[in-house]
Amino acid sequence: MPLDHSTSLLRVAIAAAATCAFALLPPATVPDANAATGTAGLDPVLATAYTQASRTARSEGVSLWITSGKRSSGEQEQLWRDAIRTHGSPAAARRWVLPPGQSTHVSGHAIDVGPHTGAMWLRRTGFRWGLCRTFANEWWHFEVATIPGQPCPPMWPDAAARVDRSISPLRR
Ligand SMILES: [Zn+2]
Repeated sequence: MPLDHSTSLLRVAIAAAATCAFALLPPATVPDANAATGTAGLDPVLATAYTQASRTARSEGVSLWITSGKRSSGEQEQLWRDAIRTHGSPAAARRWVLPPGQSTHVSGHAIDVGPHTGAMWLRRTGFRWGLCRTFANEWWHFEVATIPGQPCPPMWPDAAARVDRSISPLRR
């Protein structure tokens, strides 16, 4: 077998191995140089929607950034304990912070944004990318909640209301 032929076979084998290794990586861990700051670990649909929104914001001269995106269970547990201390009881705290098992920040499906002017801009325009405010009491919290271009659904009064509704529809 001529040397150049075996070399090209080897190249094909290396390329195939590299492709397989890449395919085995979970999507969220594939580094995307074009993704907006703060989107690491988020669900890819949310990361892409926010990245596109932030590009448009920048082109329109609007300040917009992620103040909190994907959180670990440990980080959420700490926030949850702090909130119970601040608000006085779990029932009061969960209107603002949910325990790790119920938080869409832990699952990678939520972002908090700032500053206030940027959040107001995103509330008006976010539907173009499927991004919606979901809780009436949190001006900073956004999730993918509609098909891009379609109106956002009505907001829940707070985070606890949505969890209670999804656990027990008969309760309301
Ligand atoms: Zn949030």
